[in-house]
Order: sequence, then structure tokens, then C-alpha cells
Amino acid sequence: MTQQWMNAAVLYGREDLRLEQVPVPQPEAGEIVVRVGAALTCGTDLKVYRRGYHAKMLKPPMLFGHELAGWVEAAGAGCTRFQVGDRVVPLNSAPCDACFFCERGQQNLCEDLLFNNGAYAEYLRVPARIVEKNTLLVPDDLPLEFAALTEPLACVVRGLEESGARPGDSMIVIGAGPIGLMFMHAAALAGIDVTAVVKRAEQAASAQRLGARQVLSIEGLTGASEIIAAARTLTPEGRGADVVIEAVATPATWEWAVEMVRKGGVVNFFGGPPSGTVVALDTNRLHYGDVTLKASFHHTPATCRTAFKLISSRRFASAEFVTGRTGLGEIPAVFRGMLERSATNGKRDIKTAILMGER
Ligand SMILES: [Zn+2]
Ligand SMILES: [Zn+2]
Repeated sequence: MTQQWMNAAVLYGREDLRLEQVPVPQPEAGEIVVRVGAALTCGTDLKVYRRGYHAKMLKPPMLFGHELAGWVEAAGAGCTRFQVGDRVVPLNSAPCDACFFCERGQQNLCEDLLFNNGAYAEYLRVPARIVEKNTLLVPDDLPLEFAALTEPLACVVRGLEESGARPGDSMIVIGAGPIGLMFMHAAALAGIDVTAVVKRAEQAASAQRLGARQVLSIEGLTGASEIIAAARTLTPEGRGADVVIEAVATPATWEWAVEMVRKGGVVNFFGGPPSGTVVALDTNRLHYGDVTLKASFHHTPATCRTAFKLISSRRFASAEFVTGRTGLGEIPAVFRGMLERSATNGKRDIKTAILMGER
């Protein structure tokens, strides 16, 4: 058979993303090849683009992007779960289900977590383990760009479960990037009373539309103590929130989170700052305040299914998250733009769908 070629984004290093012609993958036994319908930009990808690597997921040069949905184009020998033409979401990882962590239900920490990247391409090879354990069939009426939200929402669902918040609890979410907004929305749908701490005016509007009852915009506030005090006045009797979610990934916001929670409350550090980062926390406040600190990473096959169900039910406002659309040829420019706008605080899309289009 003659070799077919496709367009794919290849990350070569820090801020060096190129669109190239690479061979169309062929499925080995148990694998599928997916024709990508929609791939979504993600804060993690931006982080990897900025740093030039990811501690767990990839080393350049490498195919890039991990949130997608598409059609099964080809299935390898022995693959019985899917047929050519099926619409699917292949998740970006699958656990081994045999190691110390998997046996304790912490598949997100699997010692042999198998990652898959390469969503910003016409076709994606999906390894057999992900086909078997973490690829989901998309209902006919669900747009692929919505189905592609499964991965980030699965991380959020896990973070929400780990925080132990119950309906009626008060929750502060610091940060209104895509993940912060998803947290607010998922929490509000679960009956949690959400207060959003945001930086920019357009984020305040999004937070409100997605279910935050109160929004604190920190523009104009000077210094951590003023921001913390303002957030605490928005909590029941000013005692602090039952749960605080940090979704900015800076040491400063990690420290704010601990100051915004109530005695006996839970802080979940959801944003991952660069390695080597340290924070200073008040030991007295933690100990005598009986504060629980958590830091959630990634997702499990179970939370992927919970997230997928929420998206499929249409209760989750997917359209609020996919605010930009463009073609694969624009992908280097999309990342340059995301970097620029995050540096200048400019208005930006929540997520951009890279659409490969119907054929
Ligand atoms: Zn992501
Ligand atoms: Zn494992």
C-alpha cells in the first residue's frame, strides 16, 4: 500500500510548534486510528508549549494536543469494541489496572499510565489499552466539539469528588480560565454555592452565566490581604468557604486558598505550578484550623465516564466553553496568540476548537 500523508502539529521545543506532513498512522493489533473531527486547545497544552516539555506526558519533537473526538477510520486486528465510522472520544491516557496505585483506585497515579498525544492532526493512532479502557462512543446528536470536552471535565469531576463538597456547601473557586470555569459550572450543577474569584471583567460574566452566585473581581484590589478579606466577606458569616479550589497554578493563589477556607474546610490545589515552586503556609492556621489540603491530578476511567455522561445529558453548557473555531493550518498562530494574550491579559477564547471538518 502506498504511504498516505497527513497534516499534523509537531512540538519541537519551547514555543516551537510546526505544522508538518507526517505519515498517516496504521492501526496495529487492538488499536484504532481516529479521523479527528474536533480538537480543543487546553491550558495544559499552552503550559507545555511555553515550557517546551511536560514532566509526564511528552518530550519533543512530538505530536501535540490531547482533547479530541472523531470517527474511527480504521481498526486493527482483534479490535471488537468499535467499528469503522463510529464517533468516539479516545481519552488521553489509560491506567494498567495492576500496579499499587491502580489496585487502590488511584488510577490517575498509575505507575505505568499510558499517555497519548497528537490531537492537532488529521488522524490519531489510539493505543490498544486506551481503546479497551478509555474510549467512549459518542451519541449521534452530540457535536464532536462538545464530546471533546470529556478530558478536562473528567479532571474537574475528579477534583470535585475529592473535595467532598455536598449540595448547599459554599465553595470559592480561584481562577476563571477554562478549568476554573468548568469547576464553577460542575459545582453549581451539583447544587454547590459557588463564589468565583476572577481577574478580568469578561471572566466575571462567564462565571455568572455558568452558575457562580457571587463573583469577586480582583481588578483594583491591591495585595493578598485585601483580596483574601474581600473573598471572606462573601462567605457565610465571613468564616471562610467550606471548600476552596485553586485553579490558577501560582504559589500566590495557593497561599490565598488556605486563607479563604473555613476552619475544618478543604482546600484543593487544582492548578499545577512549575516544578521547583514552593509556598509558605501558616502552620498554626492549618493545625488549629483543622484544614484539609488536597491536590488533585488528572482523571480516572470512572471520572471520564461521569464527565462524558454530564456532557451527553446536555445539562453541562458545553457551548459556553467552545468559543472559538478554526482550521488545523492556524494551529501555530492559535498558540502564539494564546501566549501573547496570557502575557498581556487580553480577551481570549475559553477554548478554540480545531475543526478538521466532515469529508
Ligand atoms: Zn486538557
Ligand atoms: Zn497502574
